[in-house]
Parts: sequence; structure tokens; C-alpha cells
Amino acid sequence: MLQVENISKSYLDVNALRGVSFELNKGEILGLIGPDGAGKTTLLRIIVTLLKPNSGSIFLNDSNIIQNRTLARTQMGYMPERFSLYQDLTIQENLIFFGELFGLEPEAIHNNMEKLYAFSNLKPFYNRKAGALSGGMKQKLALSCMLMHEPKVLILDEPSTGVDPVSRHEFWKLLHLLATEGTAILVSTPYLEEAQECDRVALINNGQFMALGKPDELTQQLEAELFEITSPTITSLYEEFIAADYRNNIELFGYALHYSDLEKIGLKQIQQNIKKMKSPIESIKKISPSLEDVFLHYLKGTHE
Ligand code: ATP
Repeated sequence: MLQVENISKSYLDVNALRGVSFELNKGEILGLIGPDGAGKTTLLRIIVTLLKPNSGSIFLNDSNIIQNRTLARTQMGYMPERFSLYQDLTIQENLIFFGELFGLEPEAIHNNMEKLYAFSNLKPFYNRKAGALSGGMKQKLALSCMLMHEPKVLILDEPSTGVDPVSRHEFWKLLHLLATEGTAILVSTPYLEEAQECDRVALINNGQFMALGKPDELTQQLEAELFEITSPTITSLYEEFIAADYRNNIELFGYALHYSDLEKIGLKQIQQNIKKMKSPIESIKKISPSLEDVFLHYLKGTHE
């Protein structure tokens, strides 16, 4: 449905995007996951034609939208990081306002509003001012406003930031419902745990995709075996590993260390090496990598 080809963008001397390409399919939820400054907002703003790339093309059902902004804006819905609801308008007035903004006839506004009330459970509060809503309700209202013109592609920039976990869960249920109805959804998030909600995820850092695939596929892509090491003095053990030049192998996960056997030396040799450390070891066992391990692995690669 959406085809993004080799998009690059720089702001003066900052290379915000360096040749990003991917496809977004009908009914698919694609998560864009990366730390602050990775380039997520820049990419989303380019896709919704608010920013021009330095190079690259974007096709929506075979039409180049960089040259056809109207098409992009009628077929896509965009919820920016700081979505702007009119705080002094009620839920209903906000929905009508966005419907009119998209040029809908009164009958279409009425019908779509009723559909969205049923979808979002906001009807009982229709007369409440947006400024008086909880964070989760504001988020649902912002999504509903963006859906008034029934877009085929949804672009959401960090919609879950600052929203409580229960509302976040409900919001994801709504996104799944929309995807089931055929809407293609591209959603950025700094939260790795939200990756499991997506059909595919793209890990972005430093303006480039480091990996793209189904969450389970990404965790299977790591070639090195991973071991979890526990110790009653985990921080000092970590510092010992760093001092012994195991920087690329080791990650501190709060309660444990994850050791990546990049050199393929095997468990026995790792145990031998650990014996040389002063900090006591409680246990060492092989584990399956999580998406966080995958992400940290690629992050290290980009810093080398
Ligand atoms: P965040 O979640 O913090 O918004 P992000 O992943 O969305 O991060 P971008 O906002 O796209 O990242 O920023 C990518 C890079 O481009 C960063 O280095 C940022 O400082 C830089 N940048 C973004 N907008 C501008 C701008 N208008 N002028 C100059 N540099 C910019």
C-alpha cells in the first residue's frame, strides 16, 4: 500500500535519515522503534508530506505522494507526537471540527462520528470538553479525530508516550481493530515492549534501519549464543568485564549480565574466562535473546 524508497534527509549538518526503505501493507501494523533523535519523527513527517526529503520517493498505491500532497492528505491520517485537540471544544465539537476540516458533508460527519463513538466508547462523554479528559481519553479522541475522514493509512508518532498502561493497552486494541478492517498502520514508539503488538518492526537508529522483520524473526537473527550471568555484586562484575575489554560482549540488564558469545568460544571457555574475575558468580545459563538484546546488539554495531 505504501512504498518508501531510499529516503534521506539532512538538517544543515545533521543527517537525520540515511536511505530508509520499506513497504507497509494493507492491514499491517509496522512499528518504528528507536531512541530519541533516531529519526522517527522526521520519517513520519516526510511520509505525510509535511517535510520534503533530500532524496528518495514514496508511493501510495503506485502514486508518488511527494508530487501529490492532496492524495497523501486525503488518504492518510497523521497523529503527531503532541496532538492538538481543541481544549475548549467538547468531544463532539472536536470530531465535527475535524470532519469539516477534511471537507466531509454533514451526513458523513454524523455517520462517522457515531461509528467512532462505538469504536472508542467515548459517547457517554460527548459533551465533555477535551481539556477535561484523562490522558487516555484524549489519546482516543485524537485518534478518532484523525479517523473522521476514514484514511486507509494511519501514521502515529509515539501515541503511547505519557499514557498509563491500561489506556495504552486499550489504545492498542483499537489499532488492532482498525488493522483487521484493512487499515495500514505505521506507529513509532520508544517502548520496546510495544514491538510485540506489531506485525513487523523496524529498529531505527542514527537515521538508518538496523533491522526490519517480525518480532520473533528478529530475535532469531542473532547468530551469537547468549548467556545470562548472575552475581551478588553484578555492577562490579560488569565493570570487570568492561575493564577486561569485553565491552562488545556484555550488557547490564539490572539484575543480570547478558554475555554474547560473538567469538563463538563456547560456554566452557566463557566459564574459564569468568573464573579470572574477582566478583563471585552465582549462575551462568544459555538464554533466548529478547528484542532488547537484538536492539542493543545493533546499537553497538552502529557505534563501532
Ligand atoms: P524524538 O523522539 O526525540 O522526537 P526522533 O527519533 O523522532 O526523536 P527526529 O526528531 O526525527 O528523531 O530527529 C532526528 C535528528 O534530526 C536528531 O538529531 C534531531 O536533533 C535532528 N533534527 C530534528 N529536527 C530538526 C530541525 N528542525 N533542525 C535541525 N535538526 C533537527
